Amino acid sequence: MADLATDPHPTAADRPVGDPLVVLSGVDKHFGPLHVLQSVDLTVRRGEVVVVIGPSGSGKSTLCRTINRLETIDSGTITIDGKELPAEGRELARLRADVGMVFQSFNLFAHKTVLENVTLGPTRAKGVKKSVATQRAMELLERVGVANQAHKLPAQLSGGQQQRVAIARALAMDPKVMLFDEPTSALDPEMINEVLDVMVGLAREGMTMLVVTHEMGFARRAAHRVVFMDGGQIVEQADPETFFTAPTSARARDFLSKIL
Ligand code: ADP
Ligand code: MG
Repeated sequence: MADLATDPHPTAADRPVGDPLVVLSGVDKHFGPLHVLQSVDLTVRRGEVVVVIGPSGSGKSTLCRTINRLETIDSGTITIDGKELPAEGRELARLRADVGMVFQSFNLFAHKTVLENVTLGPTRAKGVKKSVATQRAMELLERVGVANQAHKLPAQLSGGQQQRVAIARALAMDPKVMLFDEPTSALDPEMINEVLDVMVGLAREGMTMLVVTHEMGFARRAAHRVVFMDGGQIVEQADPETFFTAPTSARARDFLSKIL
């Protein structure tokens, strides 16, 4: 975890970004008559932190889910590190492993211990030896501050602790990019910061992240860019300071007036 006091790159503007890692180009998605993603173009560069905000139903979760093909798309392309995501097959499984995902509901395996939750992916999907996976899992649990809970079941942990385990589990697969879909919206207020702090630490270490959240504090602390979605479209995007102080579209101004 980055030490906030000595971090040499305290703001996103000081953290350089690299070449395009996730590229959505002309992505369309319908659910029946509903056009939930409308010709979406979005590039996330290596090391970049992009925060996605927008009203409920605007397509934010669907956007995340298309990036690792939990949802198919109707047209357009999605590439991850230069490779186009196929609809199915072994190549899809491999590319999907490059994308870590953390959901609003922690989605841990209820009948496995915290430690097993973190080792399962690497041992089953990547063939990592159990001893190696266990050592790495303990390092990750240490990093997110729950190593002392390793042998408990998820239900014995608080929501904030469970979400930090979910982050460790995703990191255990060594993803190239992490997607977070409202990771703190199911948490009691006093647990939100312990999860956001872990995410800020990851951002400062250079992890590429796409984060759906309405936590403006996180956006200001960690995001290079805020993307505002409404009605299945990317309406506006800017650096956090510009977006929050001088949004250009009426829809973004209206949305911000409701949440700030
Ligand atoms: P957000 O995450 O921004 O709240 P979603 O991506 O979850 O928005 O949903 C976008 C729209 O698509 C909403 O109108 C939602 O009701 C609809 N939707 C989402 N998932 C499905 C589904 N599996 N089947 C039908 N409609 C869906
Ligand atoms: Mg959603």
